[in-house]
Amino acid sequence: MSIKIPAAIINCQNFINGEFIKGDGEKIQVISPYNGKPIGEFFSTTQSVVESAINDAQVAQRAWAEVPMKERTKVMFNFRNILLRDIDEMAHLKSSESGKNFDEGKAGLMKGVEVLEYAIALQNMDLGGRVEVSRGVSCEYRREPVGVVANITPFNFPAMVPMWTIPIALTLGNAYIWKPSEKTPLTSMKIAAALKEAGLPNGLFQVLQGTKDTVEAIIDHEAVKAIGFVGSTKIAKAVYDRGTNLGKRVLALGGAKNHIVLLPDANPEMAGVGISDSFTGCAGQRCMAASVLLVVGDPKDTEKHIEKIIARASSLKLGTDMGAIITKAQVKFLREAITKAEATGAKVILDGRKSIAPSGMEEGNWIGPTILDNVLPGSEAATVELFGPIISIIRCRDISEAMKIENSVSYGNACSVFTSNGALAEKVIRMASTGMVGVNVGVPVPREPFSFGGVNASKFGHGDITGQHSLDFWSNIKKVTVKWEKQNDNNWMS
Ligand code: NAD
Repeated sequence: MSIKIPAAIINCQNFINGEFIKGDGEKIQVISPYNGKPIGEFFSTTQSVVESAINDAQVAQRAWAEVPMKERTKVMFNFRNILLRDIDEMAHLKSSESGKNFDEGKAGLMKGVEVLEYAIALQNMDLGGRVEVSRGVSCEYRREPVGVVANITPFNFPAMVPMWTIPIALTLGNAYIWKPSEKTPLTSMKIAAALKEAGLPNGLFQVLQGTKDTVEAIIDHEAVKAIGFVGSTKIAKAVYDRGTNLGKRVLALGGAKNHIVLLPDANPEMAGVGISDSFTGCAGQRCMAASVLLVVGDPKDTEKHIEKIIARASSLKLGTDMGAIITKAQVKFLREAITKAEATGAKVILDGRKSIAPSGMEEGNWIGPTILDNVLPGSEAATVELFGPIISIIRCRDISEAMKIENSVSYGNACSVFTSNGALAEKVIRMASTGMVGVNVGVPVPREPFSFGGVNASKFGHGDITGQHSLDFWSNIKKVTVKWEKQNDNNWMS
């Protein structure tokens, strides 16, 4: 399905205390990657507005903390129904600003809804614990909100990445400050409107548009106790350092360079589809996209697999099967990366530079699926996050050589293996230096209730951003010890 790109410029605003309010800072345009035309604009948020919005959130949060979780969950249930009602409209909007195709836009929202359903289930699942530890004395866990929390999100998933944290943080009783990407702020207004319609009390969900200065003002505000971040490694590290230097809890997810290990015994159909879809999905602009293909063994044993990957990737039509690249500068960077790889001896066996822009969208940001063969380990194409529909093939003698290359990259988000041999799959699972591993799955994103998160330069901080291992980040655990009657005997704990 083609994307319905907004015909008129959308005035994107902050959402503060239940109202949409124009920002007071610098004006920034939002350009659609599809046609290169402005589709929105906003004014960034200055420090004084950040401060008053967070002060108001702090007041609202104190009341929200007193609301039983079952009642908070009712708002989340309404929120889910509104998102599902409006899902097609939102998928068109978020795709218009981020470059996704329609199915990808919708899938991102559905993943967000899955996290929302996990948050709704917390009322029945997260029961804490209470044990009588000695006669008449009990110990108990109570989960309490952190207070005001903040989240800063990237362009490539304008709804899914924020929805990793919004439902869980709000259900646990926090107030939530959100700074969306300046490249994709339009979707944030729909999410804010949905939460308002769902009945979320004013002040608990404040959307502050902007860039670096707005982020820094949010981090620095004394009332903000926990900061989630998703974006590139360089900025993740900067946000982590700034927040932790102020004594705050920070979980900052960064970039990635994901590997797929292809073994000769892999099912060629599964490998062809799984590997092609992994590096071309979202035009390669996702932190779980495969970026390096480690082809193990004699090349003649894997030729059929490579042919299937090429056949599937080259059949994709730009504009419908595969979306656009976020900016013109990024297209230039990708084209240059291909040229540099060629200069170091790589062979371009599928050349996306030759792909033709969809009719009527010639001013958009396009590059087709690209496969580079015989890429040198250690070169830019093998180690740097390119963030586009490019996969680098490195030929390897055996699994040990493949995993040595995988282990040498600084990132640690995802690694997959395609094989029909369980023992070899287990070897890759054990040797992978990543937070997430897949077997015959090109994009090994854990589904709820399993948590999402990498290691090494793909994540700064502890825990994960979703699922069970996110709960302790968005809450505090109070340990309560109670005795109502005098004990007759004294023991070592008395
Ligand atoms: P980015 O780092 O440029 O921007 C992310 C956010 O940081 C945006 O909201 C932006 O406004 C803000 N920001 C930019 N410069 C800043 C600064 N100097 N100080 C403070 N804040 C700043 O990332 P992007 O280009 O929007 O997104 C793509 C990147 O995100 C890729 O590297 C991708 O791998 C990564 N990503 C990671 C995950 C994950 O789960 N690990 C998920 C999605 C995207």
